[in-house]
Amino acid sequence: MSAPAQTAGQVLLGIPAAAGIAVGRAMLLDRRALHVPHYHVEVDELTAELSRFEEAVQESVAQLDGVAERMEEATGGALQLLEAHRLLMTDPMLIEAVRTEVSSGHVNSEWALQLAVRQIKSAFDRIEEDYFRERRDDLDFVGDRILRNLLGQGEHGDAERLAGRSGGGADTDVIVVAHDLSPVDTARLADRGVLAIVTDAGGRTSHAAIMARALEVPAVVGLEAVTEVIGTGDLIVVDGTEGEVIVEPSPRQAELYRRRRERWLRQEADLLKNRDLPSTTMDDVAIKLLGNVDLGEEARAVIEHGGQGIGLYRTEYLFLGQGELPDEERQYEAYSAIVKELHAASCPTTLRTLDLGGDKLLDRMPEDDGVMGVRGLRAIRLCLEVPELFVPQLRAMLRASAHGDVRIKLPMVTDLSELRRARRLIEELTAELRAEGHTDIAARVPLGVMIEVPASALIADALASEADFFSVGTNDLIQFALAADRSNEQVTDLRNPFHPGVLQLIRLTVDAAARAHIPVQVCGEMASKLSAVPVLVGLGVRCLSMTSTAIPRVKDVSRGLSIDWCEQVAEACLSAPTATASQEIAQEAFRRRFPDLAR
Ligand code: PEP
Ligand code: MG
Repeated sequence: MSAPAQTAGQVLLGIPAAAGIAVGRAMLLDRRALHVPHYHVEVDELTAELSRFEEAVQESVAQLDGVAERMEEATGGALQLLEAHRLLMTDPMLIEAVRTEVSSGHVNSEWALQLAVRQIKSAFDRIEEDYFRERRDDLDFVGDRILRNLLGQGEHGDAERLAGRSGGGADTDVIVVAHDLSPVDTARLADRGVLAIVTDAGGRTSHAAIMARALEVPAVVGLEAVTEVIGTGDLIVVDGTEGEVIVEPSPRQAELYRRRRERWLRQEADLLKNRDLPSTTMDDVAIKLLGNVDLGEEARAVIEHGGQGIGLYRTEYLFLGQGELPDEERQYEAYSAIVKELHAASCPTTLRTLDLGGDKLLDRMPEDDGVMGVRGLRAIRLCLEVPELFVPQLRAMLRASAHGDVRIKLPMVTDLSELRRARRLIEELTAELRAEGHTDIAARVPLGVMIEVPASALIADALASEADFFSVGTNDLIQFALAADRSNEQVTDLRNPFHPGVLQLIRLTVDAAARAHIPVQVCGEMASKLSAVPVLVGLGVRCLSMTSTAIPRVKDVSRGLSIDWCEQVAEACLSAPTATASQEIAQEAFRRRFPDLAR
């Protein structure tokens, strides 16, 4: 499908999910299954059937080669993806399995291919190595490609269409267009070097969007019907900063956006130069800036961007997209690697215990499987109910404390009893580990509570009396306070972080923390929203944790603030009559003070 004439130059408006600009060819991720015919082949037709399969494989390889050739100038990532598929396509393991099914089972090639792919995938599942698990997706792609050629639909869909549209160079870079992406899909795509991501579904704080930001892939989400407007091979512009997608831009528009992309990349490089400047306001109050990390590989980026530690490590990504749950040892390796890396830079690491549930579900978490499958039982509630999940994780975290400054925080706490149960378990496990000979672990790891549910802000004094620190998760706090699901694009406008009700909840939390003399950080997306930074500082927040790439800009803002002024802005927002009025006050104040940073 290519863009109908009336869509050429059309601008689609979505939700800006990850900043940056890209110009490239669309690849529609169409996961709709093909109909696979099943029939038996007569013995005297088996040779012809086998030749039909060989031809489909050759055709598939030629199609991939064609794309690879034309993509030579494009990013290495896109080529790596093609390389992996090409290798798998000619792998004797697959070819022989299909040949055997046809020759011995007398089934048609399409059916044989389906059986072979299924067999190999289940064999991959039994091997405990990430490499093989990841190959399952590649196998789907390869199987799909050969199947399309067997069915005479080889020219429709998928990457090779890109090649037919372009003369090479930057135009051949891939922009993925999908209805929706899981956080794991997003990570895999980013890993493979896609240039940008656009989706029908999702919101700014949906986990796929967070992942795109963490991996620095420009993304626009919540476009509602982009998959119906854009087809594989269309040239598109993605402006992840403004939330715009332009379909089949004119050569002039495409050139303009390529220049904007260059400028954006230059600005990003310039901002990195402030990494060693202190993060203090003009009146010398320190605003601590920490990094949020979803994948271990991002730890270095926190330090590189001038972060003073990790304020949030979302450990659930270690569990998502895996065939088997990572055991204590595997988790210990992952946590201690990060802790060591941060310790080398004299920085602390805050590990968050599992926050599964909601839109973060284990790959094969059966929906009807008792406790594990109850979708409402999220985060700390799930962990306290399932010691098989919680105990190995806590043991691994405690063991990692031997390698640096570790703090642990609990997501979605709503009652002091949850903190107490977790604390008791941690104390028991600390004693157990010491008895086992792990005498080098920290005597007492600070244990914090995430304030993500309005009720916890309202009982903040009680929580503060026993918590070592608070961490405000504004993504959840906002969705629950305003009754507006964070992954529903229809209610994006309702999830206004400046809503006076939300600000009141943050103030309650900060004040309770001050009374109990415990630190408080904000680690939701609001912490990196530039016009919200003065408001948070005005409410008394002195520590912000965010995607590492946002740190340099937020530091720029912090260095231009004065506490008095921030307090005035926060007061005005708190007493605004509506969310929009509060937002306007904050944005206008920000524009005046930072005309160069305001967009
Ligand atoms: C939050 O809710 O603000 C938060 C930081 O946690 P997550 O986005 O992982 O739910
Ligand atoms: Mg949360």
